[in-house]
Amino acid sequence: MPCTGGAGNVGFFVGPEAVIVVDSQFKDIASGIVEQIKKVTDKPIKYLLNTHHHGDHVGGNDVFKQFAVIVAHDNVRKRMLASPADIQRDYPARIEDARKAGNDEVVKRLSEQLEWARKVRIEEISAPILTFDSEFRIHLGGETVHVWHTPPAHTDGDSVVYFEKAKVAHMGDLYFNKRIPVIDIRGGGSVRGYLEAHDKVLARLPADVTLIPGHGEVSDLAGLKAARQYLADILEAAGKAKTAGKSREDFVKEIDLPAYKGFDGYPDRFKSNCGAAYDEAR
Ligand SMILES: [Zn+2]
Repeated sequence: MPCTGGAGNVGFFVGPEAVIVVDSQFKDIASGIVEQIKKVTDKPIKYLLNTHHHGDHVGGNDVFKQFAVIVAHDNVRKRMLASPADIQRDYPARIEDARKAGNDEVVKRLSEQLEWARKVRIEEISAPILTFDSEFRIHLGGETVHVWHTPPAHTDGDSVVYFEKAKVAHMGDLYFNKRIPVIDIRGGGSVRGYLEAHDKVLARLPADVTLIPGHGEVSDLAGLKAARQYLADILEAAGKAKTAGKSREDFVKEIDLPAYKGFDGYPDRFKSNCGAAYDEAR
Protein backbone atom coordinates (compact mmCIF):
# COMPACT_ATOMS: atom_id res chain seq x y z
CA MET A 1 0.00 0.00 0.00
CA PRO A 2 1.68 3.27 -1.06
CA CYS A 3 1.39 6.65 0.68
CA THR A 4 2.40 9.32 -1.81
CA GLY A 5 3.44 12.83 -0.83
CA GLY A 6 5.90 15.62 -1.46
CA ALA A 7 8.95 13.54 -0.68
CA GLY A 8 9.75 9.90 -1.45
CA ASN A 9 6.81 7.49 -1.67
CA VAL A 10 6.36 5.30 1.39
CA GLY A 11 5.06 1.73 1.11
CA PHE A 12 3.85 -0.58 3.84
CA PHE A 13 2.79 -4.19 4.09
CA VAL A 14 0.62 -5.69 6.83
CA GLY A 15 1.55 -9.28 7.62
CA PRO A 16 -0.26 -11.58 10.04
CA GLU A 17 2.01 -10.52 12.93
CA ALA A 18 3.88 -7.43 11.88
CA VAL A 19 4.04 -4.49 9.51
CA ILE A 20 6.95 -3.71 7.18
CA VAL A 21 7.40 -0.10 6.07
CA VAL A 22 9.52 0.94 3.10
CA ASP A 23 11.16 4.36 3.52
CA SER A 24 10.38 6.95 6.16
CA GLN A 25 10.09 10.32 4.36
CA PHE A 26 11.08 13.45 6.30
CA LYS A 27 11.11 13.58 10.08
CA ASP A 28 8.17 15.99 10.38
CA ILE A 29 5.99 13.73 8.21
CA ALA A 30 6.96 10.36 9.72
CA SER A 31 4.67 10.46 12.75
CA GLY A 32 1.74 11.20 10.40
CA ILE A 33 2.70 8.12 8.38
CA VAL A 34 2.71 6.00 11.53
CA GLU A 35 -0.74 7.36 12.42
CA GLN A 36 -2.06 6.46 8.94
CA ILE A 37 -0.72 2.92 9.27
CA LYS A 38 -2.30 2.56 12.72
CA LYS A 39 -5.68 3.47 11.18
CA VAL A 40 -5.33 0.43 8.91
CA THR A 41 -3.93 -2.11 11.37
CA ASP A 42 -3.12 -2.67 15.04
CA LYS A 43 -0.19 -4.98 14.15
CA PRO A 44 3.18 -3.62 15.33
CA ILE A 45 5.53 -1.94 12.86
CA LYS A 46 8.58 -4.18 13.24
CA TYR A 47 10.73 -3.42 10.20
CA LEU A 48 11.67 -0.29 8.31
CA LEU A 49 13.54 -0.79 5.04
CA ASN A 50 15.43 2.18 3.60
CA THR A 51 15.79 2.00 -0.20
CA HIS A 52 18.78 4.41 -0.08
CA HIS A 53 20.33 7.13 2.10
CA HIS A 54 18.66 10.36 0.87
CA GLY A 55 16.95 12.56 3.45
CA ASP A 56 13.51 12.31 1.86
CA HIS A 57 13.63 8.50 2.36
CA VAL A 58 15.43 8.19 5.73
CA GLY A 59 14.51 11.47 7.45
CA GLY A 60 11.78 9.77 9.49
CA ASN A 61 14.10 7.03 10.81
CA ASP A 62 14.25 8.87 14.16
CA VAL A 63 10.56 8.14 14.65
CA PHE A 64 10.66 4.51 13.45
CA LYS A 65 13.77 3.46 15.39
CA GLN A 66 11.78 3.66 18.62
CA PHE A 67 9.87 0.50 17.64
CA ALA A 68 11.26 -0.92 14.38
CA VAL A 69 14.47 -2.59 13.20
CA ILE A 70 15.89 -0.40 10.43
CA VAL A 71 17.39 -2.38 7.55
CA ALA A 72 19.27 -1.24 4.44
CA HIS A 73 22.26 -1.88 2.21
CA ASP A 74 25.72 -1.45 3.82
CA ASN A 75 26.35 1.78 1.89
CA VAL A 76 23.19 3.42 3.27
CA ARG A 77 24.61 3.12 6.78
CA LYS A 78 28.08 4.21 5.65
CA ARG A 79 26.77 7.28 3.83
CA MET A 80 24.43 8.31 6.63
CA LEU A 81 27.21 8.12 9.21
CA ALA A 82 29.64 9.96 6.91
CA SER A 83 27.13 12.69 6.07
CA PRO A 84 28.13 15.27 8.75
CA ALA A 85 31.75 15.21 7.54
CA ASP A 86 30.71 15.19 3.86
CA ILE A 87 28.34 18.12 4.36
CA GLN A 88 30.93 20.18 6.23
CA ARG A 89 33.43 19.52 3.43
CA ASP A 90 31.11 20.17 0.44
CA TYR A 91 28.34 22.55 1.48
CA PRO A 92 30.19 25.83 2.11
CA ALA A 93 31.16 25.96 -1.60
CA ARG A 94 27.68 24.88 -2.71
CA ILE A 95 26.05 27.54 -0.51
CA GLU A 96 28.37 30.13 -2.02
CA ASP A 97 27.42 29.01 -5.57
CA ALA A 98 23.71 29.16 -4.72
CA ARG A 99 24.17 32.61 -3.18
CA LYS A 100 25.90 33.86 -6.35
CA ALA A 101 23.07 32.40 -8.45
CA GLY A 102 20.52 34.21 -6.23
CA ASN A 103 18.84 30.94 -5.26
CA ASP A 104 17.67 31.85 -1.75
CA GLU A 105 15.67 28.69 -1.20
CA VAL A 106 18.70 26.46 -1.87
CA VAL A 107 20.91 28.70 0.32
CA LYS A 108 18.44 28.29 3.18
CA ARG A 109 18.07 24.51 2.79
CA LEU A 110 21.82 23.87 2.52
CA SER A 111 22.62 26.25 5.39
CA GLU A 112 20.19 24.42 7.67
CA GLN A 113 21.84 21.12 6.80
CA LEU A 114 25.31 22.59 7.37
CA GLU A 115 24.23 23.81 10.79
CA TRP A 116 22.87 20.32 11.58
CA ALA A 117 26.14 18.69 10.40
CA ARG A 118 28.22 20.94 12.65
CA LYS A 119 26.40 20.03 15.81
CA VAL A 120 25.10 16.47 15.36
CA ARG A 121 26.82 13.61 17.17
CA ILE A 122 27.36 10.48 15.06
CA GLU A 123 25.55 8.28 17.59
CA GLU A 124 22.42 10.43 17.17
CA ILE A 125 22.09 9.51 13.48
CA SER A 126 19.32 6.96 12.96
CA ALA A 127 21.21 4.78 10.51
CA PRO A 128 20.12 1.21 9.71
CA ILE A 129 21.31 -1.24 12.36
CA LEU A 130 20.89 -4.32 10.18
CA THR A 131 22.72 -4.09 6.87
CA PHE A 132 23.35 -6.44 3.93
CA ASP A 133 25.55 -6.50 0.85
CA SER A 134 23.64 -8.33 -1.88
CA GLU A 135 20.12 -9.51 -1.05
CA PHE A 136 17.99 -11.05 1.67
CA ARG A 137 14.40 -12.08 2.33
CA ILE A 138 11.93 -11.48 5.16
CA HIS A 139 9.26 -14.14 5.65
CA LEU A 140 6.02 -12.82 7.07
CA GLY A 141 3.14 -15.28 7.12
CA GLY A 142 2.57 -16.34 3.53
CA GLU A 143 4.49 -13.41 2.08
CA THR A 144 8.14 -13.41 1.09
CA VAL A 145 9.72 -9.98 0.88
CA HIS A 146 12.80 -9.94 -1.32
CA VAL A 147 15.25 -7.08 -0.89
CA TRP A 148 17.77 -6.80 -3.74
CA HIS A 149 20.72 -4.43 -3.96
CA THR A 150 21.36 -3.36 -7.56
CA PRO A 151 24.44 -2.03 -9.35
CA PRO A 152 25.15 1.64 -8.43
CA ALA A 153 22.31 3.62 -10.02
CA HIS A 154 20.56 6.49 -8.22
CA THR A 155 23.18 6.03 -5.43
CA ASP A 156 25.53 3.17 -4.50
CA GLY A 157 23.13 1.86 -1.85
CA ASP A 158 19.93 1.32 -3.83
CA SER A 159 17.56 -1.55 -3.11
CA VAL A 160 14.35 -2.88 -4.60
CA VAL A 161 11.82 -4.34 -2.17
CA TYR A 162 9.67 -7.00 -3.85
CA PHE A 163 6.60 -8.54 -2.21
CA GLU A 164 6.38 -11.84 -4.06
CA LYS A 165 2.83 -12.94 -3.28
CA ALA A 166 1.30 -9.47 -3.60
CA LYS A 167 3.37 -8.91 -6.80
CA VAL A 168 4.27 -5.40 -5.71
CA ALA A 169 7.75 -3.87 -5.83
CA HIS A 170 8.84 -0.67 -4.12
CA MET A 171 11.60 0.64 -6.35
CA GLY A 172 12.87 3.53 -4.26
CA ASP A 173 14.60 6.11 -6.44
CA LEU A 174 15.61 3.46 -8.94
CA TYR A 175 12.38 4.55 -10.56
CA PHE A 176 11.16 8.11 -11.14
CA ASN A 177 7.83 7.71 -12.92
CA LYS A 178 7.47 10.22 -15.79
CA ARG A 179 10.18 12.32 -14.16
CA ILE A 180 13.77 12.96 -15.08
CA PRO A 181 15.72 10.94 -12.51
CA VAL A 182 18.15 12.37 -10.01
CA ILE A 183 21.44 10.55 -10.57
CA ASP A 184 23.50 11.24 -7.46
CA ILE A 185 27.04 10.85 -8.80
CA ARG A 186 28.50 12.21 -5.52
CA GLY A 187 26.45 9.55 -3.72
CA GLY A 188 27.99 6.78 -5.83
CA GLY A 189 25.30 6.80 -8.55
CA SER A 190 25.93 5.98 -12.21
CA VAL A 191 23.98 6.40 -15.47
CA ARG A 192 25.31 3.15 -16.91
CA GLY A 193 24.69 1.40 -13.58
CA TYR A 194 21.13 2.76 -13.53
CA LEU A 195 20.46 1.15 -16.92
CA GLU A 196 22.04 -2.09 -15.75
CA ALA A 197 19.96 -1.96 -12.55
CA HIS A 198 16.77 -1.57 -14.60
CA ASP A 199 17.72 -4.53 -16.79
CA LYS A 200 18.42 -6.72 -13.76
CA VAL A 201 15.14 -5.76 -12.09
CA LEU A 202 13.14 -6.20 -15.30
CA ALA A 203 14.59 -9.71 -15.67
CA ARG A 204 13.40 -10.66 -12.17
CA LEU A 205 9.94 -9.12 -11.93
CA PRO A 206 6.79 -10.79 -13.29
CA ALA A 207 4.94 -9.11 -16.19
CA ASP A 208 1.93 -8.23 -14.02
CA VAL A 209 3.86 -6.58 -11.17
CA THR A 210 2.68 -3.30 -9.62
CA LEU A 211 5.48 -0.79 -9.10
CA ILE A 212 5.77 1.89 -6.44
CA PRO A 213 8.32 4.41 -7.72
CA GLY A 214 10.42 6.56 -5.38
CA HIS A 215 8.68 9.58 -6.88
CA GLY A 216 5.58 9.75 -9.08
CA GLU A 217 2.45 7.66 -9.47
CA VAL A 218 2.18 3.90 -8.94
CA SER A 219 2.63 2.11 -12.25
CA ASP A 220 3.27 -1.12 -14.11
CA LEU A 221 6.22 -2.58 -15.97
CA ALA A 222 5.57 -0.43 -19.06
CA GLY A 223 6.34 2.67 -16.98
CA LEU A 224 9.66 1.25 -15.82
CA LYS A 225 10.52 0.29 -19.40
CA ALA A 226 9.95 3.93 -20.41
CA ALA A 227 12.28 5.08 -17.62
CA ARG A 228 14.86 2.55 -18.87
CA GLN A 229 14.51 3.87 -22.41
CA TYR A 230 15.32 7.39 -21.23
CA LEU A 231 18.62 6.17 -19.76
CA ALA A 232 19.41 4.17 -22.91
CA ASP A 233 18.68 7.24 -25.05
CA ILE A 234 20.91 9.66 -23.16
CA LEU A 235 23.75 7.11 -23.05
CA GLU A 236 23.40 6.50 -26.78
CA ALA A 237 23.41 10.23 -27.58
CA ALA A 238 26.43 10.76 -25.31
CA GLY A 239 28.28 7.82 -26.90
CA LYS A 240 27.68 9.20 -30.41
CA ALA A 241 28.83 12.67 -29.41
CA LYS A 242 31.98 11.32 -27.80
CA THR A 243 32.79 9.16 -30.84
CA ALA A 244 32.27 12.19 -33.08
CA GLY A 245 34.82 14.11 -31.00
CA LYS A 246 32.33 16.56 -29.52
CA SER A 247 33.36 18.12 -26.19
CA ARG A 248 31.35 17.52 -23.03
CA GLU A 249 30.49 21.19 -22.88
CA ASP A 250 29.15 21.31 -26.46
CA PHE A 251 27.24 18.04 -26.04
CA VAL A 252 25.49 19.25 -22.89
CA LYS A 253 24.71 22.62 -24.48
CA GLU A 254 23.25 21.12 -27.66
CA ILE A 255 21.51 17.94 -26.46
CA ASP A 256 17.74 18.02 -26.68
CA LEU A 257 15.44 14.99 -26.53
CA PRO A 258 11.91 16.31 -27.15
CA ALA A 259 10.37 12.94 -26.18
CA TYR A 260 11.22 13.68 -22.55
CA LYS A 261 10.23 17.34 -22.34
CA GLY A 262 6.94 16.36 -20.70
CA PHE A 263 8.79 14.70 -17.81
CA ASP A 264 8.90 16.59 -14.52
CA GLY A 265 12.35 17.99 -13.77
CA TYR A 266 13.41 18.37 -17.43
CA PRO A 267 14.69 21.96 -17.03
CA ASP A 268 16.56 21.12 -13.81
CA ARG A 269 18.03 17.69 -14.31
CA PHE A 270 18.13 16.70 -17.98
CA LYS A 271 21.39 18.49 -18.77
CA SER A 272 23.17 17.22 -15.66
CA ASN A 273 22.03 13.65 -16.46
CA CYS A 274 23.47 14.14 -19.96
CA GLY A 275 26.79 15.42 -18.59
CA ALA A 276 27.05 12.34 -16.40
CA ALA A 277 26.12 10.14 -19.37
CA TYR A 278 28.93 11.75 -21.40
CA ASP A 279 31.45 11.04 -18.62
CA GLU A 280 30.43 7.38 -18.61
CA ALA A 281 29.85 6.87 -22.34
CA ARG A 282 32.21 4.60 -24.22
ZN1 LIG B 1 16.89 9.70 -3.66
